[in-house]
Amino acid sequence: MTTADWQRLETSLPAWVSECRGYTAQGKVASYIPELSKAPKDALGITIMSSDGRSVSAGDSELAFTMQSISKVFTLILALMDNGEEAVFRKVGMEPTGDNFNSMLKLELVQPGIPFNPLINAGAITISSLIKGNGSAEKSARILQFFKRLSGNASLAYDSDVYLSESDTGDLNRSMAYLLKDHGVLEGKVDDVLDVYFRHCSIRGTCADLARMALVLANNGSDPLTGEILIPRRYVQIAKTFMTTCGMYNASGEFAIQVGLPAKSGVSGGILALLPGRYGIGVIGPALNAKGNSCAGVRLLETISQEMDWSMF
Ligand code: GLU
Repeated sequence: MTTADWQRLETSLPAWVSECRGYTAQGKVASYIPELSKAPKDALGITIMSSDGRSVSAGDSELAFTMQSISKVFTLILALMDNGEEAVFRKVGMEPTGDNFNSMLKLELVQPGIPFNPLINAGAITISSLIKGNGSAEKSARILQFFKRLSGNASLAYDSDVYLSESDTGDLNRSMAYLLKDHGVLEGKVDDVLDVYFRHCSIRGTCADLARMALVLANNGSDPLTGEILIPRRYVQIAKTFMTTCGMYNASGEFAIQVGLPAKSGVSGGILALLPGRYGIGVIGPALNAKGNSCAGVRLLETISQEMDWSMF
């Protein structure tokens, strides 16, 4: 990006956030995990980091939120690093479902009964079972450590209120895990696997943490500061492809057309997006649209992508 382009981004970002904030009124904060319903409905914030070390933030970018499904991108990567591609794709598929993120429908209808992809809940719970470690505590510690390295934030931590809230109410995820166990997809104790899953969904960060993690993906797996390889390039390629085809729930096709960036959203209203080779982006806007994506967050990414001509396609 030229200096003039970056200056335009820096100057315009606060205005674009103000324009898009109105869309928060059209959405609803997730409440099926009761603790998430406490998030501020009208919040909207963003941080963008560039591969040459520049960073710009606007709106409520300091708001802390749990990563929820965004974490699934990185547990997939860790599972690939732990087990290799062949072992992982024996347990999860590579296709979008067209169903809700927490649906079990295709596990019964389509054979073999493995989850369609690692970003839906059934797939991500299966991925949690593939993380190496001695028991759920060590697996969770390895995941948190990996997230700390990618975000460059050594104080990243779990939100224990959100973790307990989901663990108390996660009956659908629990039933899914038992089904997967019965089908021979999930190995290990169901409760341990779910503990790993609920914990990584409850890792708390800010837009800057997401932007920095996204920047590692934008940099093909290298640390933006030191150049150290944190993720093998092939696994970044796999992650970016899943983000493009399934990262925005059942609105992934529309998002690819309107925004044109690999992205992953979560029920907390966070969105992680990236422009390969150039930017890592973190967005928060807790009010969700009917598809489960941040109403104003999607609108903001559409505006930026169109104004700055960022679509990859
Ligand atoms: N922890 C959430 C769940 O399992 C993640 C869902 C999401 O962000 O899509 O329901």
